[in-house]
Amino acid sequence: MYRNAFELLAATILSAQSTDARVNMVTPALFKRYPDARALARAIPGELEPLILSTGFFRQKSKSLMGMAQRLVAEHRGEVPAEMDLLIALPGVGRKTANVVLGHALGVPGLPVDRHVLRVSNRIGIAEGDDPEKVEAQLCAALPKEMWTLASDVQILHGRRICKPKPLCDQCSVRDDCDYYRLVVSRGPDKVRAAGEKGAAGDKRRGRSSRRPGKNDARKVRAPRR
Ligand code: SF4
Repeated sequence: MYRNAFELLAATILSAQSTDARVNMVTPALFKRYPDARALARAIPGELEPLILSTGFFRQKSKSLMGMAQRLVAEHRGEVPAEMDLLIALPGVGRKTANVVLGHALGVPGLPVDRHVLRVSNRIGIAEGDDPEKVEAQLCAALPKEMWTLASDVQILHGRRICKPKPLCDQCSVRDDCDYYRLVVSRGPDKVRAAGEKGAAGDKRRGRSSRRPGKNDARKVRAPRR
């Protein structure tokens, strides 16, 4: 829940190693006390930390939030910049957070890659590798810009609901297009066991050609069955 780019940026920083539900519990009081970057830049750690304590890693997050806000005030007149390079220069902000804010609050195409996107894209076969930045580049190359943010959202939802670490392939609407289903799951439980959850993506990658995703792979990213 956010009303502007500043709130989404702060909430996304808080979401590291936490859950959306937990973050949504703390943000109303947080943004009531610190409604904008100027207010947060002047925060006192002893007052800020109790407000975000339940999200975990509250001391580091407090530093990141205050540092982020101070930089916004010092360099961007208190506004959140709509450029990747400027966003990732802010304390506590990496590419994933920057892409979330760009895509959802600033109207700039961004493709956040979290653990769900990594898992789903590798399994389906539209990306290859464990490095979020490389997977982001592969997905962005395979999809038109206007689909980037939606593609991330869809894969995150799909990873949470269907393509979990132990995937629910029998309920999946994209299994006909999924390399992991074709090369591992459809070959039976022995193959699944052999692949193992951690090595599944790697086994799948080694089992298929070394082709890189192309434009036609965009068709594989479509809404999962809800
Ligand atoms: S078929 Fe299975 S492994 Fe492939 S995307 Fe669907 S749930 Fe994930």
